[in-house]
Amino acid sequence: MHPTLQHDFDTFGDILQQARDTAVSFIDSLPERSTCPALSAQQLKSGDDILSEHGVGAETALNDFWNKYADGMSASAGPRYFGFVTGGGTPAAVAADWLVSVIDQNTQLNFDSVSPAIELATINQLKQLLGLPDEQCGSFVSGATMANVVSMAIGRQWLGKQRGIDVAQQGLHALGPLRVLAAAAHSSSVKGLSMLGIGRDALENVATLPDSEAIDPQALELALQQHPDAPTLVLASAGTVNTVAFDDLPALLKLREKYGFWLHVDAAFGGIAAASEKFAHLLEGWQQADSITVDAHKWLNVPYDSAIQFTRQAHLALQIEVFQNHSAYLEPPKVRPDNYLHLTPENSRRFRALPVWMALKAYGRAGLADVMERNVELAARFARQIEGMPGFRLLAPVTLNVVCFALDDADGSAESVARRNRFLSLLDNAGVVRCTSTSLNGKPGMRAALVNWMTSGHDIDLALGSLQACRAEI
Ligand SMILES: *Cc1c(COP(=O)(O)O)cnc(C)c1O
Repeated sequence: MHPTLQHDFDTFGDILQQARDTAVSFIDSLPERSTCPALSAQQLKSGDDILSEHGVGAETALNDFWNKYADGMSASAGPRYFGFVTGGGTPAAVAADWLVSVIDQNTQLNFDSVSPAIELATINQLKQLLGLPDEQCGSFVSGATMANVVSMAIGRQWLGKQRGIDVAQQGLHALGPLRVLAAAAHSSSVKGLSMLGIGRDALENVATLPDSEAIDPQALELALQQHPDAPTLVLASAGTVNTVAFDDLPALLKLREKYGFWLHVDAAFGGIAAASEKFAHLLEGWQQADSITVDAHKWLNVPYDSAIQFTRQAHLALQIEVFQNHSAYLEPPKVRPDNYLHLTPENSRRFRALPVWMALKAYGRAGLADVMERNVELAARFARQIEGMPGFRLLAPVTLNVVCFALDDADGSAESVARRNRFLSLLDNAGVVRCTSTSLNGKPGMRAALVNWMTSGHDIDLALGSLQACRAEI
């Protein structure tokens, strides 16, 4: 063994202890750490692109990394990062995520270790948490983007099968163009259409209900009537990123009965609302969707690289047709819900379920529902204060955890966009709170998405203080 590696082998425990100490200092720094650190020229051009011949060993490498880069890391895991839809990691989830790397299982083969059985157990618990029926089968993928891709791939296969074509075998050209109908599809689904050969141009934007991002079921029906026999994917939203709008799923299910499309529900973060008795009604009907996307690394607060793709048991054989992987050294596919090698895009896959398993075990339904309910309460409070604060206004009523707001003089002009951008740079420089830009009804706005388990009333006060201070500067 190379002597540096041999030395690290002999001191493995000390190296993990050093990583643990570094981690604790990072966690302690979160409340004060910038939500958008200014990156120094030294960090961006640090000489790290020069390969070392013999290496310095893990201890020095860890120290070098931390000394050089620690202040370039944002507090995105902390309580005032409201940009995008970004969760943090609860203690149980983070501890489990570390163990995933140490244990290093390849959770694909049913005969190799107990890890696929634990993934199945995690999925079963998630179905209880979210009120999903037994007939929804799930598997872990890297994020909601991949869950959307997998879902649309199974939908594509199903639409082919209805017409006697096996797309997985023959290719999409054998089926011809698909129709894709949605009102507020997430950009990741549009990317997915490109990845799947369906094409971004296939997406037809259906009208929304007035003053809403939710699809207008009547407009959808009119669109379906135009080509009732065309193979069609309908991409429903259960929680849009701007206003957390939920499509009327019972109405869409009725249309599905009539027109026979594939109904996919993107519930990346909104799906977690089903864990709360107060909000579960927003998801009514999702139990019967053909496929569902739920992110774990957003509102379940597990570290990145975690989402669940659900499909009805009736479609499992189609999922295997798409993702089966044949080789002399692999188990042949079987139609069972834990046959992950043949159900997911990857060949090798980390033991991704463990952080969710651990969080469910550690905090239970009530503990995880409490995270989302607190975020919802704090979002309402944030919105009330924004409404009463000179210089700002809400762009939309707040449904759950996202506050969509703007400078009070926002209009559709380029100057207004530039002003909003200037404001956000000031806010980022202050580093107290991160909000990200958006546009709603042609007006340049900002979003504050509350997703983190640590966020408290004090954080809302600090965030509002920084917004006010930056408003005074533009
Ligand atoms: C975040 C998000 C996605 C993409 O999820 P990733 O986990 O970042 O791949 C898709 N859809 C919705 C509604 C989202 O909020």
